[in-house]
Amino acid sequence: MRKGIGIAGIAGRMGTVLAEEVRAAGAKLVGGIDRADAPGQTMFADIAALAAACDIVIDFTHASTAASHARAIAAAGAGWVLGTTGLSADDDAVVAEAARLVPVVHAPNFSPGVNLVLALAERMANALPGDTYDAEIVEMHHRQKVDAPSGTALGMGRAVARGRGVNLADVMESGRHGHTGARKPGAIGFAALRGGQVVGEHTLLFAAATEHIAITHRAFDRRAFATGAVRAALWADGRAAGLYSMMDVLGMR
Ligand code: NAD
Repeated sequence: MRKGIGIAGIAGRMGTVLAEEVRAAGAKLVGGIDRADAPGQTMFADIAALAAACDIVIDFTHASTAASHARAIAAAGAGWVLGTTGLSADDDAVVAEAARLVPVVHAPNFSPGVNLVLALAERMANALPGDTYDAEIVEMHHRQKVDAPSGTALGMGRAVARGRGVNLADVMESGRHGHTGARKPGAIGFAALRGGQVVGEHTLLFAAATEHIAITHRAFDRRAFATGAVRAALWADGRAAGLYSMMDVLGMR
C-alpha cells in the first residue's frame, strides 16, 4: 500500500473504531471526511480529495452518499470498502458501475461470524423445503439505527432465497401488522426490534410443525465489523477492478 487508508464517516460510531483498527493493523491512516468533527484526525474537504489521497476508502456513512461516493472514488482510482446499509436498487447499480473501474468490497456485515452464518443459511435453506420449514429472521439494533430491516437481515434473507432458488423480493414478508391473513407458503419473514444500545443481534429461524432450528449471531462490539472491514481493505489493495463480498475476502467462494 503506497498512500494508506481513508475513512468516510470517521466521526461516526463505526468510523471511530475503524480509525483505531486501521492503526492497530499497522496500516497508515491518511484521514477522513465527515459532517461532524473528529478530534485528532486529518480531515479532507470532500470525498474526491480523500479518495485522491489514499489507496482505499473505507466507507461507513449514510445511504444518501452512495452515488456521489461511487463516482468520486472510481474517478480517483481508489479501492472502496463499502459498509453503509440501506442502499436502494439504483444505488446498487451505481456501486456496480464503479466496480467496473476499481475494486469494491461491498458487504452488509463485515464480521467473519455473520458471513459464516450466511453461508450456512444458504445450505440449510437448500436442504429444508420452504413449504414445510418457515423461514423467519428477527433482528435487534440500537435506537439510533435509521434503516430496517438491517442490511444483515436482508443479507440472510437473500441467502435463504438463493438456497431455495427464488428472489427475495417475491417472497419477503416484512413488518406484519393488522389482519395479514395466514402466512404464505415459502414466505421469508422479517421482524425488526429497536432499542437501547444493541450493536447487532440476528436470529434465523426455520420453523416446521415438528421441529425448530435457530441460528443466532450476537455482535457485542463494533470491532467485530471494523476488524473485518480493515482486513477487506488490505485484501482489496492492488486487486483488479470488480465487485467483491466478504465471502471473497474470507476465501469462502
Ligand atoms: P453513525 O451515524 O454513527 O456514523 C455515520 C457517520 O457518517 C456520521 O458521523 C455522519 O456525520 C457521517 N456522514 C453522513 N453523511 C455524510 C456525508 N454526506 N458526508 C460525510 N460524512 C457523512 O452510523 P454508524 O453506526 O457508524 O453506521 C454507519 C453505516 O454503517 C450505517 O449505514 C450502518 O447501517 C452501517 N453499518 C454497517 C456494518 C457492516 O458491517 N457493513 C456494521 C455497522 C454499521
